[in-house]
Amino acid sequence: MSIDYCFDRQHIWHPYTSMSHTLPVYGVKAAEGVRLTLEDGRELIDGTSSWWACVHGYSHPAILSAMEEQLKHLSHVMFGGITHESAIELCRQLITITPEPLTKVFLADSGSIAVEVALKMALQYWQGQNKTEKNRIMTVKQGYHGDTFAAMSVCDPEGGMHTMFGDNVARQLFAPAPSTPFGETAKADDIAGLEAMLAEHGKQTAALILEPIMQGAGGMWFYSADYLKAARALCDKYDVLLILDEIATGFGRTGKLFACEHADIAPDIMCVGKALTGGYISLAATLCSDKVAAGIDSSPAGVFMHGPTFMANPLACSAARASLALLASGKWQAQVKAIETQLKQELAPAAVLPGVKAVRVLGAVGVLEMHKQVNTAALQAEFVARGVWIRPFGKLIYIMPPYGISAEELSCLSRAMLEVAALTSEQNQDDNAFVSHG
Ligand SMILES: *Cc1c(COP(=O)(O)O)cnc(C)c1O
Repeated sequence: MSIDYCFDRQHIWHPYTSMSHTLPVYGVKAAEGVRLTLEDGRELIDGTSSWWACVHGYSHPAILSAMEEQLKHLSHVMFGGITHESAIELCRQLITITPEPLTKVFLADSGSIAVEVALKMALQYWQGQNKTEKNRIMTVKQGYHGDTFAAMSVCDPEGGMHTMFGDNVARQLFAPAPSTPFGETAKADDIAGLEAMLAEHGKQTAALILEPIMQGAGGMWFYSADYLKAARALCDKYDVLLILDEIATGFGRTGKLFACEHADIAPDIMCVGKALTGGYISLAATLCSDKVAAGIDSSPAGVFMHGPTFMANPLACSAARASLALLASGKWQAQVKAIETQLKQELAPAAVLPGVKAVRVLGAVGVLEMHKQVNTAALQAEFVARGVWIRPFGKLIYIMPPYGISAEELSCLSRAMLEVAALTSEQNQDDNAFVSHG
């Protein structure tokens, strides 16, 4: 059976696409290890981990067999009034591996929902303290937290979707984005900007939500651990909950199991998603402390007001348990370190290309920030022609490969990035009719 591209074009939305201005899509028929097999038989080395989720690579036998085993017994059952071993064991593991104060787990269906849940938790917590005036959310610019309405409201106010949906998007409080790079001592201004916001609005603020260390889809920016440390201290000083969105950073991507470990701090509420199931099936989770849970219980509702139909889907839980078991071997640490070392070396030459503004590497993330917006579809085709799957967006050409990628395969990705960045530097980028987000 060949892929019906015509039907796809006419009837199916892809992420951030239009039904009339169609961009090319590539039919994939299989994926194994770090390779995607296109419908026509071509193989591509994957530099995306399928939007950062597939950290162990595709078709990993341990995850497949865990899911197959689960499927035989219980693929799904409602979670209202019912529980199952798959959820219990997953939550037990999550509590063990996340920072100490996090003891309660809400299993959600996707990252955006985990963020919605975190925001609701924070609001209900303050209701429980009789401080209903604390009903605003603070964040920093250049963030990304998802595409649902509350999640959108804390995305970057310019890069995000605030203007297009007007009053339907809640007006939140935006501190300046952290500007000191990772590995450097945070500039005083940086922290002062956040403190000024908290000093002015702390009394109305329920929570500060941040992506720890790495701002992902908002710009692939790695910021100083001092800033995160200071954010924790400032939240305590101004009596504001700290929510860390570890959806992109969690499970080893930045070189620590969770990015907040770079700053040695713990949040009151934490969101995980993306790599939670090793990227095999959608699942996310929001964890909170005893203190937050107790606050929610004493709110007027008396219960936490959320409960998705597919909450704690056993199949998804089984994939997550298998993925966590793979991470528990600790092998990822050396792998991520090796990727970091190699990318630092291999991407450095890009710094001299005229189109390249900055080269950044942290953990298993390599980024070329260009001066101008790139044409995603055009660059995509260049990458496919070079046998790799890399999907640039905005001004960014970046990779987040599966941790098990070999040195040779990683070199193919770096080489392709350099070649395509060089090509883009030469061309005058006036063909950006279809600049796409995704
Ligand atoms: C991807 C992402 C989300 C949204 O997750 P979805 O599963 O796409 O809803 C939220 N926060 C961060 C930091 C992300 O990277």
